[in-house]
Amino acid sequence: MDATDNFETRYLLNDACVEAGIPWIYGGVLGMEGTVMPVAPDAGPCFRCLIPTAPDASKLPTIAEVGVLSTTVTTIASQQVTLALRALVNPDDQDCAVRVLDVWAGFLRRIPLRRNPDCPCCGHREFPFLAGPAAPDFTIMWARNAVMFHLRPDAATHVAWTRAILAAGGSHPNDGVWEVTAPGDAQRGPHTIMLFADGRVLVTDTRDPDLARSMWLQVLT
Ligand SMILES: [Zn+2]
Repeated sequence: MDATDNFETRYLLNDACVEAGIPWIYGGVLGMEGTVMPVAPDAGPCFRCLIPTAPDASKLPTIAEVGVLSTTVTTIASQQVTLALRALVNPDDQDCAVRVLDVWAGFLRRIPLRRNPDCPCCGHREFPFLAGPAAPDFTIMWARNAVMFHLRPDAATHVAWTRAILAAGGSHPNDGVWEVTAPGDAQRGPHTIMLFADGRVLVTDTRDPDLARSMWLQVLT
């Protein structure tokens, strides 16, 4: 059951489930609309048949901007649970249509979707998101409007990073966090850049991983 908020994790979930032959149920919400799609690996299309590659995050609306109606979340979750019950009661249930629900208007659209024979995941059985190093080293945090880098510095590198943050005018507000503020431009920012004790780095007020990465590298230089 998908209860995530970013494409990277959903692609990872999709790769893992298709490879292992385990059904899963995609659910996404934004504003007053939500989308649900059951993925039955041996029977129907997978998540990458629906969305082959992650869209440009900087061009999509986010929950931070649009908001989300609380009843959209419960309606989509309810649909996901219902589809899970159907799969449990009858594993041969192969209703793989995409459901798009407008909760405000009370409108449900069913969109039939066929498996794409050229889908890299269920068609060619390539699972790059399981490969670890080939997978992206960041997560776009849609609700928070931020990018999180999953870095794994050794101890000496981590110390060097903390010194760079303090040298750039940053602070060490508590045991596990070092942070510095970077100025923004007309569209976004200022940005807070936070380094955590485990090596993760968070850059706020952007969904653009390239911009976030360049701001983090500026702190280090
Ligand atoms: Zn597919």
